[in-house]
Amino acid sequence: MEATSSKRLLDDYGIPYSLNSGNIPNEKSFIKPQNDKNLKTISKLEVKDSKNDFEKIYVCVRKRPLNTNEIKRDDKNVVFIKENKTVIVNEQKLKLDLTKYINYHSFTFDYAFDSDASNQDVYNQTGVSLIEHVFNGGTATYFCYGQTGSGKTYTMMDAEEGLFILAAKDIFKILKKEKYSFISVYISFYEIYQGQLYDLLNNKKKVYAREDNNQQVCIQGLSEYNCFSENELMSIFMNGKNSRVTSTTGSNPDSSRSHGIFQVVLKDKTKKNLPTYGKFVFIDLAGSERGADRDDNNKQTLLEGQEINKSLLALKECIRAIDQESKHTPFRQSKLTQVLKDSFTGNSKTCMITTISPSSMNIDHTLNTLRYAHR
Ligand code: ADP
Ligand code: MG
Repeated sequence: MEATSSKRLLDDYGIPYSLNSGNIPNEKSFIKPQNDKNLKTISKLEVKDSKNDFEKIYVCVRKRPLNTNEIKRDDKNVVFIKENKTVIVNEQKLKLDLTKYINYHSFTFDYAFDSDASNQDVYNQTGVSLIEHVFNGGTATYFCYGQTGSGKTYTMMDAEEGLFILAAKDIFKILKKEKYSFISVYISFYEIYQGQLYDLLNNKKKVYAREDNNQQVCIQGLSEYNCFSENELMSIFMNGKNSRVTSTTGSNPDSSRSHGIFQVVLKDKTKKNLPTYGKFVFIDLAGSERGADRDDNNKQTLLEGQEINKSLLALKECIRAIDQESKHTPFRQSKLTQVLKDSFTGNSKTCMITTISPSSMNIDHTLNTLRYAHR
């Protein structure tokens, strides 16, 4: 459960002194450290007992650094990561007599990344188990959940070191092994906006999800590109990414209001109809802030907000169902969860990365995000 208590004496960062004397790290620098360029993506596929080999679901939090504007504005950092697991949020409050006090919130996750963690660090901690799972014939899914501006796209879909490309490098490295010569890689990239699917690799053409006689959900007409190297994968990705932001069909131009789904499917090319062998899905979710919280309260924005809320709520229920190993997964409650049925049922492994801002100005969203992700 979330712990809340009131403490009084605060240091410059708003941390109660009593806590500060413990091992809560003080934020020394707000500048993002240089990534270690020499750190290679090393596949540990042969290692059987990977240290975070999780069963079904792994939920972590990633705190981004304060950005230049926030530093200029003198925003306070109010989020602290303790022992790679616990996220502490210090919420400043005023009593009726105007004395200040701090509501101190603490949430524990499978893992919490501090602001100096690189995408490579996130991948090293979470990716191996997922890659292994895909090569064992399962479905692996990465979700990024959080407020707009908290780092979802940076984490998942940064062109240089987003999780999708770090994973793709490992996938192509492993595919060089003789043992996997029967596998061919196929890429799809689409977005969900207001319950409708758009193919990002085909001029944002509308496509439709259908459930076949075997209760498999497939997206009819979704384009798939056969791909043989990480460079090829990258150029396909860039096409999709560009079409996501430069809309030609009149649908949503703001990618923070849609869910972006990039999938790498491993197919067995030795068999008729190329059956799917394993699948890796990368999801950059729409911003978790509610439509109603935005300044531009026109009808369109409200509808977008409602749809996003509905799908994120359905997502939470599906994730809870996996966590509790419930027999019934309520994936039909939204288009998002419906098209991701594979990721919730059967042979699946899921990692959710909850991205949060450290700034005092975003504290309400940060607390909502943490409450959503907390089990
Ligand atoms: P979102 O997709 O959640 O709306 P973005 O990924 O676009 O947010 O991030 C917003 C800005 O913050 C971008 O300029 C991004 O480069 C930067 N950013 C996000 N997370 C980090 C991080 N962990 N380290 C450095 N910069 C980051
Ligand atoms: Mg984004």
